[in-house]
Amino acid sequence: MKIVRGISEHGKNVSKAVDEILKSFPFVKKFAEEVREEKRKVLNDLDYWIDKAMKNLEEKNAYVYLAKKGEEANKVVGEIVGTNKLVVKAKSSVSDELSLRDFLEKNGNEVWETDLGELIVQLAEEKPMHIVAPAIHFSEEEAKRILGKIGIRGNSPEELTYAVRSFMRNKFLEADIGISGCNAFSVESSSIFLVENEGNIRLVSSLPKKYIAIVSLEKILPKDELCLKSILVQSAFAGVFPPAYININKPNKYQEFHVIFLDNGRTSDERFREVLLCVKCGRCQLECPIFQLFGVNWGGVYGGPMGRILSYLITRRAESDIFLCTSCKKCDYVCPMGIELSKMVRRIKMDVKRSWS
Ligand code: SF4
Ligand code: SF4
Repeated sequence: MKIVRGISEHGKNVSKAVDEILKSFPFVKKFAEEVREEKRKVLNDLDYWIDKAMKNLEEKNAYVYLAKKGEEANKVVGEIVGTNKLVVKAKSSVSDELSLRDFLEKNGNEVWETDLGELIVQLAEEKPMHIVAPAIHFSEEEAKRILGKIGIRGNSPEELTYAVRSFMRNKFLEADIGISGCNAFSVESSSIFLVENEGNIRLVSSLPKKYIAIVSLEKILPKDELCLKSILVQSAFAGVFPPAYININKPNKYQEFHVIFLDNGRTSDERFREVLLCVKCGRCQLECPIFQLFGVNWGGVYGGPMGRILSYLITRRAESDIFLCTSCKKCDYVCPMGIELSKMVRRIKMDVKRSWS
């Protein structure tokens, strides 16, 4: 397995930033407890909440779908998008889970990642290294070379970023369809809550005439207030607080508004249900000594402790490299949702052992 540079250093900086944020904004921990409690209630009655979420969206004239499997979600997106379209995408782990960009490109569409890090990953033809910081493993020189593939030049990160911004503006203006994931979904108002620091997601979700949001089931929350709290917890534990932008998108008369709820294995095994409390802050990944060494290479669809568990649910496969986990429990200590990740990783190890006998 390939060793990846830079993660451990980045992890130390994030740890320091999170400590300072929690000192300055102690209410974030209370938010985390509240979100955990409410998420647990939703997960205990998930069918009810999915049903209610879908009905509320339909009443607001949105197009709504429930995809049990990844292929079903791609099929729906493929039908909405069609061919020969220009698609702009927000950074979204769930679309990576579906290999959605490849799928749409194979259907003859032009697809652009609009997050700077994710664009670098797209041009490098790699997979994102971390859910919050996808291009964490590239040096400045490498990023410069990679962006040069589409004619973007600059002598500093600022110049490069400015050049990407101009390049992307045209794509936003010409795009037929915008696609995003969802950081939290409010059943109360049928809103997609998205958090970001670049301002690209608000253009992806508001400029194109057609908008598609892919909502994995664990993002469903009953109320707007909880969604806001959830994304504040996510941002704080990702070391970026307060976040630069929070977007709240709901069905409106100016856009064709599509929402796809995605299961894709998440409800397939009760023993791992607790991982669905995750708010995707990426903290457990950066703290895990094995992720620090191998990044997303130690994982499947997602990397690190949370990623190993979620990937196992999605693919129902685990490789023997799961035994690299040292059971140090660092992941448990840093998780804002109090998820016992190490316990679930141990369960995967047991499953792998059983498969050998
Ligand atoms: S218990 Fe395993 S998964 Fe969790 S941080 Fe330690 S090595 Fe990583
Ligand atoms: S499992 Fe916990 S620490 Fe890891 S990404 Fe999810 S919420 Fe963050």
